[in-house]
Amino acid sequence: MAKGRLIVLTGPSGVGKGTLLRSLFARHPELYLSISVTTRSPRPGEIHGQHYYFVSRPEFEKMAAEGDLLEWAEFAGNCYGTPRRPVEEQIQQGRWVVLEIELQGARQIHKNFPAALRVFIMPPSLTELEQRLRSRGQDSEEAIVRRLATARAEIAAVGEFDFQVVNDDLDKALLRIEQALFVPLAGSV
Ligand code: ADP
Ligand code: 5GP
Repeated sequence: MAKGRLIVLTGPSGVGKGTLLRSLFARHPELYLSISVTTRSPRPGEIHGQHYYFVSRPEFEKMAAEGDLLEWAEFAGNCYGTPRRPVEEQIQQGRWVVLEIELQGARQIHKNFPAALRVFIMPPSLTELEQRLRSRGQDSEEAIVRRLATARAEIAAVGEFDFQVVNDDLDKALLRIEQALFVPLAGSV
């Protein structure tokens, strides 16, 4: 059976991770996207079980305490985590599982699963990142300010990742992600 694989995709909020992943999954339906649990409230149009599992803080804390999360972190005032069981099941079945998670979670995965491939998505500039966060029009001013402050620290950690992809032009960025995933370079693991 084909070997399962863990792929981590990280990058500041608003950089375009969700947009890139939608295209990636349309082109590669064999990939499996892990659905996270979060204590954040749903944005307009977000569906429970599709975008996230939206849970209360006590529910989240119970999952974390019982070891049901592969990794978890607090981000901009809310908790986010990866449910352990579906990821382990999919890897066992030989599938490639993509985790779209922030920096602290990516570090936990690196520590516990050193073979995981980690890709960091960079914005062309901080000004463009702010523009994208605002143009999405789904976060409050306070949330945007918090996300931009966190973005600076996240971008400073780009060197920890196996690949960095600048999301300037969407199609080009998608191609670069595909190269990172499907065309292993000599010497890479
Ligand atoms: P994330 O999932 O990283 O928070 P989103 O995928 O929600 O980011 O994208 C944030 C905003 O930026 C959206 O309005 C999206 O349409 C826009 N966007 C994404 N990629 C690009 C790109 N390459 N060029 C211009 N705008 C983009
Ligand atoms: P958003 O609120 O914009 O959907 O997500 C905020 C941040 O949380 C993003 O950087 C996203 O990658 C991250 N995130 C989403 N799910 C998880 C998760 O399961 N674990 C961790 N550590 N971060 C997550």
